[in-house]
Amino acid sequence: MRDIVIAGAGMAGLHAAEALREAGFDGRLTLVGDEPRRPYSRPPLSKEFLTGKGAPATLDLRQDAELDALALDLRLGRAAVALRPGERALDLDDGSSVRADGVVIATGARARRPATGLAGVHVLRTAEDAAAVRAAFAEHERIVVVGAGFVGAEVAASARTAGLAVTLVEAAPTPLTRVIDPRVGRVFTELHRDNKVDLRLGVGVAGFEGDDRVRRVRLADGTAIEASLVVAGLGALPNTEWLAGSGVALAPGAGGVLCDEYCATSVPGVYAAGDLANWPHPRYGGRIRLEHWTNAGEQAGVAARNLLAGEGARQAFTPVPYFWSDQYGMKIQLLGQAAPADTVEVVHGSAEDRKFVAFLGRDGMLVGVLGLRSTPKVMRYRRLLAEPTTWAAALAEVSPPA
Ligand SMILES: Cc1cc2nc3c(=O)[nH]c(=O)nc-3n(C[C@H](O)[C@H](O)[C@H](O)COP(=O)(O)OP(=O)(O)OC[C@H]3O[C@@H](n4cnc5c(N)ncnc54)[C@H](O)[C@@H]3O)c2cc1C
Repeated sequence: MRDIVIAGAGMAGLHAAEALREAGFDGRLTLVGDEPRRPYSRPPLSKEFLTGKGAPATLDLRQDAELDALALDLRLGRAAVALRPGERALDLDDGSSVRADGVVIATGARARRPATGLAGVHVLRTAEDAAAVRAAFAEHERIVVVGAGFVGAEVAASARTAGLAVTLVEAAPTPLTRVIDPRVGRVFTELHRDNKVDLRLGVGVAGFEGDDRVRRVRLADGTAIEASLVVAGLGALPNTEWLAGSGVALAPGAGGVLCDEYCATSVPGVYAAGDLANWPHPRYGGRIRLEHWTNAGEQAGVAARNLLAGEGARQAFTPVPYFWSDQYGMKIQLLGQAAPADTVEVVHGSAEDRKFVAFLGRDGMLVGVLGLRSTPKVMRYRRLLAEPTTWAAALAEVSPPA
């Protein structure tokens, strides 16, 4: 294998490049990214970057010298438009082609955009999006955030910190429903309300109204909210369209790239990692796809090493999923998978104190550990999720209160 191409220069793409070099790959390594900037970190975009408080000195994931040391053929501002495995070629949007004996697909996901052409309606996925939202914070006194998933909830919290009046609209009965069981999600309902967010739960958005600019958000119950600034946090869609015709199998319903337990796709020599990879995890009863920062790095490392290792020497990817979120100065952490859970038990602290660790169980097994403002305790239980642990065995491990 002399030429490897990584498509997508985000967290997964960067880690794939580093893992390939660390594993001794000294051939031509091309990293293609359609954004103009070097690999950067998205999590601060909805947090410190928006508020300007505690901001990281830079969003860059690596210094220039560190990136240069990887000796990459770096193609930034260039999109991969087609993969032709038969000809060992990956085509770019400038009409050129790159030879590809091996490929890592790491093109991530993009924000789902509401179907409106109105100015003032934003999404938040890229550094460019975040710069536009931050500028809008300075020009507006009110904001409507649509969707109380993690990005929406963080934007609402950041907007409050920046002094804006915030209405947060969510179709589900509690915030964060995609990743957190509603019984725990209620804590976050109160958190928003205590921070003076006008939280509208259980009601969807029917449409956005205005002239050329948004003026109001119409809700499914017929009510309307005046708004000249909207951020839509409606989830993300995997960037897989460019793989059409490549033979790389995709999961139905925009479910990402189908991989096996080694992160290999249906095409030999082509691996995938990060937000778009859909793979079987033995602990979670089937296939999963994670939009988690830590996962993107870990999975890219395994995918890259497996690409070099070939049959027989590959390592299955069975991580303990990890996700965090920062809202109103509080850190939420989730290990494993949380929604839906059959059993939720607070094992340290209490929801009322907004400081707790909860175990989440399904089918008699521990499947997740969720914490609010409890970092060391949450991390202590990580080992219980690295191996199958019954619910009873997990509870027996709970350390007595300090
Ligand atoms: C605002 C925000 C806040 C977040 N906060 C957290 C958090 O607190 N905790 C957490 O765990 N996770 C968080 N995440 C999720 C985390 O950032 C993602 O899981 C991570 O970025 C995934 O990395 P990736 O490399 O798979 O994909 P991406 O980061 O999406 O990178 C893929 C790159 O490929 C590019 N690309 C797409 N198509 C092509 C193409 N055809 N050719 C070339 N390049 C292409 C994309 O433009 C992008 O630059 C957050 C995400 C966002 C958007």
